[in-house]
Amino acid sequence: MSHFSYQDGVLHAESTPLSRVAEEFGTPTYVYSKSALLENFAAYADACRGRDALVCYAMKANSNLAILDLLAREGAGFDIVSGGELLRVIAAGGDPGKVIFSGVGKTVAEMRLALEHGILCFNVESIPELHRLNEVAGSMGKRAPVSLRVNPNVDAKTHPYIATGLKANKFGVAFDDALATYRTAASLPNLDVVGIDCHIGSQLLDDAPLLEALDKLIELIDTLDTEGIHIHHLDIGGGIGVDYGAAGDAPPVPVGDYLGRLFARIDAWRAARHEGRAVKVIFEPGRSIVASTGVLLTRVEFLKPGVEKNFCIIDAAMNDMMRPTLYGAWMDMKAVAPRTGDVPELYDVVGPVCESGDWLARERALAVQPGDLLAMMSAGAYGMTMASNYNTRGRAAEVIVDGEQMHLVRRREEPAELYALESMLK
Ligand SMILES: *Cc1c(COP(=O)(O)O)cnc(C)c1O
Repeated sequence: MSHFSYQDGVLHAESTPLSRVAEEFGTPTYVYSKSALLENFAAYADACRGRDALVCYAMKANSNLAILDLLAREGAGFDIVSGGELLRVIAAGGDPGKVIFSGVGKTVAEMRLALEHGILCFNVESIPELHRLNEVAGSMGKRAPVSLRVNPNVDAKTHPYIATGLKANKFGVAFDDALATYRTAASLPNLDVVGIDCHIGSQLLDDAPLLEALDKLIELIDTLDTEGIHIHHLDIGGGIGVDYGAAGDAPPVPVGDYLGRLFARIDAWRAARHEGRAVKVIFEPGRSIVASTGVLLTRVEFLKPGVEKNFCIIDAAMNDMMRPTLYGAWMDMKAVAPRTGDVPELYDVVGPVCESGDWLARERALAVQPGDLLAMMSAGAYGMTMASNYNTRGRAAEVIVDGEQMHLVRRREEPAELYALESMLK
């Protein structure tokens, strides 16, 4: 069952009408379903049960402390891309020992912080990064656990901005350079080479590219073995897509099916080797855990008929949800209380921000009037975390619904807070 459904003509999050959320907390507001979150995480956890596996939620998709806390309690680890994200994990009571640190530009301060807190692994993306990490660890009298992010050069067949595993991308170490880079890593005194990882892209609807990447990583693990470099964990990244509901879109592969196929390959590989080598499997899912968990609740301010188009102007904008203008993403827009008797008209749904790129949905058939509530669906991933204060707009509130209960997990920003850190010249 979807956790967002119409009951008595009103769109609900679980058993709570979205109109009640708007009355209580105003708009725009991100509304998340607790059960949806737990269900999405369980799809990974169930498929991993009884195996040496760890699900490290890629928290850049949605890093609200309440979300992190709920996932940490289910046993999640975290994939972080900054020192700030590590501090969030700690603030939410997550275990730094289950944190992996990805990203091409880790600073000395971030490396220090992560070493102080004893994270599970650094996913290293270049030779200069290996040298920097070796120095930082040495200066602290510590050894840093490292994995190399290998770029398997498989085409994830997704939007160019979210494809990360091709030769032309800034991410990872080229497959052909991986062996030499591992040799460098193994030669540095303050590094422990423990793993291998990749992340080939996001919003993948098919798992074929992921399984192809897995085969390449396995091949490399075997080669490294012959060099005396033994890999203890294999991290296949995130990337599984979600169904945004666009007409004609193929549904994404179910998480359980993908993990089943992946573990079958890993089992066959281990069985083929006499020692049946032990290797921990790590996943870094972001979108597939949180996207379907949330909606962006917004109110219609004005209807503006135009010469070529009609505009539906809402109180949410590109600063609240970047995906449409950044990726050309299609996201479903539903009326919270549909006017069933009215004839729908075609609208471009836009915000108040002073940019022509400020659109959230285009050419949508809607029967709406000013004051009506709309819900932008599957907005739980890469929504609030990408929000900005452009146009001095306070960021939206965030609410988690649990049955009939509403929990405000981030209050709306007040304008004065937006310039509180600024000062004028004396
Ligand atoms: C963004 C990111 C992820 C998560 O990707 P999703 O498509 O949201 O699952 C995982 N790993 C790394 C290194 C990332 O940058």
